[in-house]
Amino acid sequence: MNKLGDLIVLSGPSGVGKSTLVGKLIEQKPEVEFSISCTTRAPRGTEKHGVEYYFLTREEFDAKRKNNEFIESADVFSNSYGTLKSEVIDRLKRGAQVVLDIDVQGALQIRKAAESDDILKRTAVFVMIAPPDLETLKTRLAGRATDSAEQVAQRLAKAQSELQNFRSYDYLVVNDDLEKASQELAAVFTAASARTSTIKEELFV
Ligand code: 5GP
Repeated sequence: MNKLGDLIVLSGPSGVGKSTLVGKLIEQKPEVEFSISCTTRAPRGTEKHGVEYYFLTREEFDAKRKNNEFIESADVFSNSYGTLKSEVIDRLKRGAQVVLDIDVQGALQIRKAAESDDILKRTAVFVMIAPPDLETLKTRLAGRATDSAEQVAQRLAKAQSELQNFRSYDYLVVNDDLEKASQELAAVFTAASARTSTIKEELFV
């Protein structure tokens, strides 16, 4: 069958276990392709240019923004982040499942763009990864040795306002039990690939 791919837009606050879930998903479904975002923030730890992110200078980032190279871009904690069209559109046209890990501002921009963009309209699925409750998230965030109390409070406030946007998403996966959450996420990917909206040709004619 001649099909477009699926654009799986994942959001979820820091501390929710999103990267662990995405890691497990890619183990289970190695054909899934991760879109590498651009960012102005500095690499952390072992992060490498072209692997976790394209690490750009402010000037490089702003030039791409001006050049209309992003599907969406947003400022998060004083840095800018953006999804390149070149990471996404051609892959969707050739039928790949593409995952974006972006914040709520970015996801809402894609929702809006999908109103007038046929490929986005037919392929985008929005998934929010949530903690079971705010208390659990607070405990998880406070357990990160790298963050100060002020950073924890700032992240928790951002998390709460992000989670309140859950109705703009198609699916909510609660990461209480990691195994259960990763199965649910895999099921969303499977269901996404069976949607009629991605089928290009007329069938049964
Ligand atoms: P971090 O700096 O911890 O890797 O990511 C911080 C936040 O930026 C996370 O919520 C992540 O989902 C978000 N983010 C990463 N890439 C993008 C992007 O391309 N666009 C948007 N809007 N958010 C992004």
